[in-house]
Amino acid sequence: MCTLCEKHEESIQHLFFECANVLPIWSWVQHIFLTYDFSNKEDLLSFIKSDGSPLVKLVKLAVIIFSIWMIWRMRNYACFQDKIEVSRAILVIKDLTCLVGNSSKASMKNNMFDFNVLKFFGINTRPLPVRWEFPSLGWVKINTDGAARAYPCLVACGSIFRGSMREFIGAFSAFLDVQTALVAEFYAVIYALEEAQKLGLTNVWLECDSALVCAAFTARTNVPWMFHNRWNTCLNYCGKIRFRVSHIFREGNVCADKLANLEFIHRESFHWYNGLPFSLFLEFFINRYSLLMYRFC
Ligand SMILES: [Zn+2]
Repeated sequence: MCTLCEKHEESIQHLFFECANVLPIWSWVQHIFLTYDFSNKEDLLSFIKSDGSPLVKLVKLAVIIFSIWMIWRMRNYACFQDKIEVSRAILVIKDLTCLVGNSSKASMKNNMFDFNVLKFFGINTRPLPVRWEFPSLGWVKINTDGAARAYPCLVACGSIFRGSMREFIGAFSAFLDVQTALVAEFYAVIYALEEAQKLGLTNVWLECDSALVCAAFTARTNVPWMFHNRWNTCLNYCGKIRFRVSHIFREGNVCADKLANLEFIHRESFHWYNGLPFSLFLEFFINRYSLLMYRFC
């Protein structure tokens, strides 16, 4: 006889998935993760294996392991000592999961789902403030970005040019068809420097969110062979002007990111904007007024 409900014959299936005394634990887990019906061990396994950031996957694993452990403990306590209330069991599972999450260095994704799940368990979300910095007098700052979508990997790139008064100078977006995301990042920089040269810019600050592209400038690492010559021409131009390059996290590179993504709608091979595109207003003003964006890591 089940020692928790004293109504049904005891079996693994009943104890862990059907007993009225443990169902609130699974309902609680389902409520936090907004999905999944746990009616057998396969359901638990597919829940643990489901997509998510490394930190949320760890939290899922922890919450399932502690729930199973706690149900077994509830059963043993009911047999040999006092009953454990299910509300108390849930608190213990929550505390232990919090401990696992906070002692891990795994990363979370920048979305509300991860934020809500981690917040619920009291796991630190470590927000990192990211702010777009404007250039000094006489300098032009160029932000570039590549974007990739779907399979086969369709890519596009975009870039925005701004002056020291944070004013809009120009922008472009280009659809690159089937390529890799890294190629898109490099094309964004090549197009940007070619346009800078056409504009006769002599004080250029280039900024992008790809550490590999930055390394191609600072550590002179190899670039994909397909644009070797154009890359060398760009380096030649950079060597003749006052030039600096910096890395920024995606959250600060919102204008270039938006421009790159615009081209998935228009699909033009290259489009230069003389005026600020209407769909870029929000991102442009976020940067213009130096509003902080947050990266959760
Ligand atoms: Zn039972």
